[in-house]
Amino acid sequence: MNIKNITQNFTRIFSGDFSGNLMQRQTPDVLFCSVKPVSLDDAKLIDFNEDLSVEIGLGILENDANFLAAQNLADNVKTYATAYAGHQFGNWAGQLGDGRAIFAGEIFNNGKQTEIQWKGAGATPYSRHADGRAVLRSSIREYLMSEAMFHVGVPTTRALSLSKTGEDVIRDIQYSGNPQKEQGAVVLRTAESFLRFGHFELLSARNQPDLLKKLADYTIEHFYPEINSESNPNRYIDWFKAICDRTLKMIIDWYRVGFVHGVMNTDNMSILGLTIDYGPFSMMDGYDLDFTPNTTDLPGKRYAFGKQGQISHWNLATLANAIFPLINDGEALEKILNNYGRQFWAEHDEMLARKFGFDKVLPEDERFFTQWQQMMQDLNLDYTLFFQSLEKPISEIKIDDFSNSFYHILNENELKKLSYFIEKYQERKLRNKISETESLAMMSKTNPKFILRNYLLFEAIQDAEKGNYELFFKLKEALQNPYENRFPEFNQKRPSKYDNQTGCSQLSCSS
Ligand code: AMP
Ligand code: MG
Repeated sequence: MNIKNITQNFTRIFSGDFSGNLMQRQTPDVLFCSVKPVSLDDAKLIDFNEDLSVEIGLGILENDANFLAAQNLADNVKTYATAYAGHQFGNWAGQLGDGRAIFAGEIFNNGKQTEIQWKGAGATPYSRHADGRAVLRSSIREYLMSEAMFHVGVPTTRALSLSKTGEDVIRDIQYSGNPQKEQGAVVLRTAESFLRFGHFELLSARNQPDLLKKLADYTIEHFYPEINSESNPNRYIDWFKAICDRTLKMIIDWYRVGFVHGVMNTDNMSILGLTIDYGPFSMMDGYDLDFTPNTTDLPGKRYAFGKQGQISHWNLATLANAIFPLINDGEALEKILNNYGRQFWAEHDEMLARKFGFDKVLPEDERFFTQWQQMMQDLNLDYTLFFQSLEKPISEIKIDDFSNSFYHILNENELKKLSYFIEKYQERKLRNKISETESLAMMSKTNPKFILRNYLLFEAIQDAEKGNYELFFKLKEALQNPYENRFPEFNQKRPSKYDNQTGCSQLSCSS
């Protein structure tokens, strides 16, 4: 690996605290603190993502397992953690920061910058009374899911390696006063940038407009090449619009594949529109707009599947407030935000049209989509399998083919709703101006045949905790070709034994 090519330009551009003091504290004048990862005597590499490593310019693994577990770092790797803030579950949470993420720095390849950071390699000044560690369970989830999202075509941070720390971590998974020992792990993850809405909220709340401007300029210059020229008077407005566009694209993709993030706090929103911070997320099995995997979110269901569009809008409005000092034009920001709602539904409809194999969105399709959504909600059909049952020439679509997506035995009335839908679908498809073949090709590129369901992760984790990684590696292979049905055994609805299993349909934030 070309570890010697890792740089820390961010720390050269912004002011930081180089004292190395790990005491948890407010750091009012700086954007980062230098920190050292914890020493591990018995760290062990579980997996390394060589394709990604080569792509970002780090190259192939030779004898660098130490680096992957943040051990024995070369002199050029000067590690640090950044400060950010955020709104959690709708409330201002003040300074948060990288509590257990530690940056190695950046690497450049073919003009493209990639940031590299470990998650779970020890405490930082931002750990807020927590230990800065991560458990194997949550690390496997992030390692596999972020790659699954990448391969299914959703903008995301990525995962470069998974190592066991060889040390135990104490966690109370259910928050029931019953803490248990779990195996510790470290994920090395990458992104063009890990900057979050919360970084900008922090500088705004601290009333540091110069620093806010500097961070915005840095972000635009490095990651928003489409916004050009210092002299553009609408620079920051254009930038905010571009952030909205990228966020919207990501959320529409979440709806396309059935992803529920679970903790859409503003500190978990990437300024580049990447899916970031894989915690109590879940792919949706049975269709349910109210589905939230996060047990902490259950009463209000703020972050449920069906609310993600609305919440992304709320989060963008919060970001607009934070960067207001750069723009001083409330009307312009409001206009962009108002348009976001409209654009959301337009793009949501277009996405659904692709899933259904429609050539374009016809005016009457809006009603069709609404009725479909109501039927899915009423019948709780498996979201992924449902679309596969539609992916055939219309004359071959039979109601019996849908039974693999039932989570309960449908009564007569429910079966009627389904057959009515099939009829309407067949009628609509006859109005397509594209051929059946073209329509099916579009569906096949849009509707995944493999999704990384929570119960699969749960099973892989149970085995891995006992030292058996067979399923882990099989899932890793399956997620690389999500549009091909190469692993029919994974292309199944969630078995009923997992209906109420913590870790399958619901998860806590404990990680
Ligand atoms: P999350 O809800 O996971 O996005 O985390 C919110 C904040 O808590 C972030 O600033 C995290 O860095 C921090 N955090 C979460 N878990 C830990 C941990 N085990 N040790 C230190 N900080 C943590
Ligand atoms: Mg987070």
